[in-house]
Amino acid sequence: MLLDRLKADLAELDTRALRRTRRSVATPCAPHVRVDGRDMLAFCSNDYLGLAADPALAHALQVGAAYWGAGSGASHLVSGHYAVHDELEARLATFVGCERALYFSTGYMANTGTIPALVGRGDAIFADRLNHASLVDGALLSRAELHRYAHGDPAALERALATSSAKRKLIVTDAVFSMDGDVAPLATLLELAERFDAWLMIDDAHGFGVLGAGGRGAVAEAGLASWRLIYVGTLGKAAGVSGAFVAGNADVVEWLMQKARTYIFTTGAPPALAEALLASLGLIEHGDERREHLAALVALLRRELALARWQLLPSRTPIQPVLIGDNAEALAVARALWDEGLWVPAIRPPTVPQGTARLRISLTAAHCADDVRCLAHALNRLEARQ
Ligand SMILES: *Cc1c(COP(=O)(O)O)cnc(C)c1O
Repeated sequence: MLLDRLKADLAELDTRALRRTRRSVATPCAPHVRVDGRDMLAFCSNDYLGLAADPALAHALQVGAAYWGAGSGASHLVSGHYAVHDELEARLATFVGCERALYFSTGYMANTGTIPALVGRGDAIFADRLNHASLVDGALLSRAELHRYAHGDPAALERALATSSAKRKLIVTDAVFSMDGDVAPLATLLELAERFDAWLMIDDAHGFGVLGAGGRGAVAEAGLASWRLIYVGTLGKAAGVSGAFVAGNADVVEWLMQKARTYIFTTGAPPALAEALLASLGLIEHGDERREHLAALVALLRRELALARWQLLPSRTPIQPVLIGDNAEALAVARALWDEGLWVPAIRPPTVPQGTARLRISLTAAHCADDVRCLAHALNRLEARQ
């Protein structure tokens, strides 16, 4: 029976230590939270600048809701597009130095809408093997041929590009890899895109707000500009709200508005969110103090951790993964930390490759130095005990 099969598949997740569970948090997004009746110190969120629960954003959302109400009422191309959406798109484009930006409801939708709008059957996509699931799904939806090159390896990408006879080519990469924290070699990727006449799409979900002058992101940090470049920034991480945007050449963005199905066939995001995002952009732009504090915490964690068997991956971003390897061991370590009041997620396949289960520590500007010391000391102790 279908249902019996499904139940057996669920049980199989348990035997392989792959079943996922959710915790319900009873307090706002912050390092110190109440979870399942316990006070915990969390290192889980992507709220890198500590803006998700910032009173200024909550206030902008309230004021926005008081004027615009709760919902948009229709898709953007029908009647669900409001003046504040225009204002937000213009601000985002200027902020990242692009001609135009298009605001999507989520980063997942930005990616799964943009890729099939750019390429299709007979075309080819060249994707870093560790790209985010939404980029993989976008590639599959497009029906273009998908080549996945070795992580962070421009030579492998170059070989794949050189042997391709596809009509149109699209290189796709995370800017900051979400489970590893390392940064893609963006300048080299753009050189290859130019040499092989390809688009270059960069998903900066974890760099926007964090990297570059004023938090303008990984592409600004690398000093790159080109009509070939399609920049995706998400707005639910460092920006602390929700949504995403795709920015680039004005004609490219116009094409996306015409063709991206995840933009066209969905209700417009609530305009009040756009008000909160405008407030967030102001805080990001003037957030050097937050970014400096965050960088100091990253340096502190890397100094305090003294691991022998587990491996702290090389990363200069707030994503600081500790590679453990075995699924069950990673889970056991996360559970031992939990028992000490420390909440760090264990990330297992299929989110990461087999045999690379890890703790994904993420730091935010809302943490303090003692929070980070507390985590580092607990990990040092646990590794010695395992
Ligand atoms: C989180 C994330 C997304 C998805 O963005 P959402 O706005 O959460 O849907 C896309 N790409 C990367 C690399 C991400 O980390």
